[in-house]
Amino acid sequence: MNNQLSNTINNLSESQTLAMSRLSRELIAEGKDVISLSIGEPDFDTPDFIKEAAKKAIDENFTHYTPVPGYPELRTAISNKFKRDNNLDYAIDQIVVSTGAKHSLANISISLLNPNNEVILPAPYWVSYHEIIKLAGAKPVSLPTTIEQDFKVSVAQIEAAITDKTRMIWFSTPCNPSGSVYTKDELHKIALLIKDYPNIIIVSDEIYEHINFMGKHESIAQFDFIKDQVITVNGVSKGFAMTGWRIGYIGAPKWIADACTKMQGQFTSGTSSISQKAAQAALEADPSVTYEMREAFEKRRELVLNLMKEIPGLKLNSPKGAFYVFPDISSYFGKTDGETTINNATELTMFLLNKGLVALVTGEAFGDPNCIRFSYATSEDILIESIKRIKNTLALLH
Ligand code: PMP
Ligand code: GLU
Repeated sequence: MNNQLSNTINNLSESQTLAMSRLSRELIAEGKDVISLSIGEPDFDTPDFIKEAAKKAIDENFTHYTPVPGYPELRTAISNKFKRDNNLDYAIDQIVVSTGAKHSLANISISLLNPNNEVILPAPYWVSYHEIIKLAGAKPVSLPTTIEQDFKVSVAQIEAAITDKTRMIWFSTPCNPSGSVYTKDELHKIALLIKDYPNIIIVSDEIYEHINFMGKHESIAQFDFIKDQVITVNGVSKGFAMTGWRIGYIGAPKWIADACTKMQGQFTSGTSSISQKAAQAALEADPSVTYEMREAFEKRRELVLNLMKEIPGLKLNSPKGAFYVFPDISSYFGKTDGETTINNATELTMFLLNKGLVALVTGEAFGDPNCIRFSYATSEDILIESIKRIKNTLALLH
């Protein structure tokens, strides 16, 4: 038999976040004392009131196929959440619930992109954007930013990247991996620019909305003159510590919501009934239920930034949201421990894993070859130990 795979799958890269987390699990299974800070996942358990809603859903026999875009009650809760938290008006028929925000993004890509289209990705970008866009045959166009500009793209940069093939721009705020948060003023400027290009759609990924240390979260869809060109993506994975429940959603112009529903209807159908009931409880609750987790993340961020300042050769920004730091480690390129020479961020990541037993993710996966991503979604003790290991391992390089 000829085990010939499709060009699509052959051209698709494995998710580097999931690959590093798999690699660390394998090393741990071999008995190695690896600390994995590779996957971006809150270490908290899902709050009890959400778990209770799921148990009730099982007992009440919410165990059948669900409407493709999600239960109306859940979409009502999402519509109310958009109004309450973001001052956005999305009717129920503008909302589609999917199997995680990752799935929402895949629906968007397949529904809106054609092979010749370009999608602008301010870099660093979340690892899966690049591959999900490629899946539709479209071309991701990376727009590099620097630590000096707090990893935020300027309007002039976006303008210079727009061509007659540009169909979309995708970004996250708070950003995975840089932790940067766009201000209302910055979003307004981007909105004013994109308004002049009515064929360009903005994908605003706001899944870290509740992990924002700047105060109020700002959505680009709040500017009425651009709202018809925006898809707001969100989910419960991060803010409510519900990664395993697999619930993400979009608020979008109806024609886009309809297309995503059509796509989903042929591919996965409506997502898990029980998870939808759990998500409804999460989204109906007062957002203050997320504050305790956010405060813990903020405390850990301070700890991590203070400890990392003691490591020579790391350049750091001060992330305003999410739970990552993204240090520039390029000062180590060209250095060696006598055995291994470090030429790039991927090699440094592997050196830290093999010699320091700490799993991080190379910046190359996020479109930034000078950095590495460190997730601080873990306990303070583990953070202290892992930064000690990183410091000692980097000290081997001269
Ligand atoms: N967007 C960003 C920026 C993320 O970090 C993640 C994390 N996995 C996702 C989307 C997808 O989240 P999920 O599929 O768990 O809802
Ligand atoms: N979003 C998380 C991360 O960036 C989870 C892993 C994934 O879905 O890629 O690590």
